[in-house]
Amino acid sequence: MNAQSLTADSVAITADLDQTLIFSPRASARLGGGLPCNPVEHIDGVVISEIAQTVSEHIDLLPPRVFLIPATTRTVDQLNRLQLPFAYQYAIAANGGVVLVDGFPDSSWDAEVQRRVTAAAPLNAAHALLTQRADRPWLLRSYRAAELFCYAIVDPTELDANELPELDEACAQIGWRARPQGRKLYLLPNGLAKEAAVTFLLEKLCAQSGQRPRHFAAGDAEVDRAMLGIADIGWVPAGSPLALAGDLPPQVRVTDAGGHSGAAQIVGEWVTECIADERH
Ligand SMILES: [Mg+2]
Repeated sequence: MNAQSLTADSVAITADLDQTLIFSPRASARLGGGLPCNPVEHIDGVVISEIAQTVSEHIDLLPPRVFLIPATTRTVDQLNRLQLPFAYQYAIAANGGVVLVDGFPDSSWDAEVQRRVTAAAPLNAAHALLTQRADRPWLLRSYRAAELFCYAIVDPTELDANELPELDEACAQIGWRARPQGRKLYLLPNGLAKEAAVTFLLEKLCAQSGQRPRHFAAGDAEVDRAMLGIADIGWVPAGSPLALAGDLPPQVRVTDAGGHSGAAQIVGEWVTECIADERH
């Protein structure tokens, strides 16, 4: 992909990363769809995440008028740890809590986020809901993220059917919500949402070009659902929590296979859709 340039026919693609475009070796083994891939993240010399070579190659084919915008629950530090095979002008991190423009947080969005979460209890109150449960077998460790939200590393096999609704209810009473995502359980304040940051960015692009860009989105988890709902076309990988939960809006496509093969199909269809667009 060449340097991005904003035109009247620009396309904004807001794409979740983990379990949508990139996968840990452990997730790949579980989801299938293995393809030749390259590492994009190491910790202490160990490969944590990979991207399929064909995904990188298809991203290279996207025309410059396409803005590929990572939209992740990762914090900025966790996002910056990735060595992605493409450059991006805009990114959404911390589940919508941060909008990066050329690598720097957009201060007007920071102020808007603070305004949006004022109705929710402070982070300490939500984190206490996790620390109070530190003795439960499913709760392995808990963390605070970017002073915006918190999450736990969980053992999903120990998480019985009552625990999650009970925790979600406790969260609801303080203006928060609990959202599981594989081995992570996120506690998010109401108002902190990827789709809010996506809408902010689309409006920013619209203000610059005079026209709302076409919007594609891809994601695998419940935190991505509303972002897919506002997209012109959305993609969900087969075998993902969203594909299994179903009830997806009509513009959302589920891939044929999961894992890296699902990612390859998603990115291949981005290229096809953008080229079809050029012929109209
Ligand atoms: Mg994901």
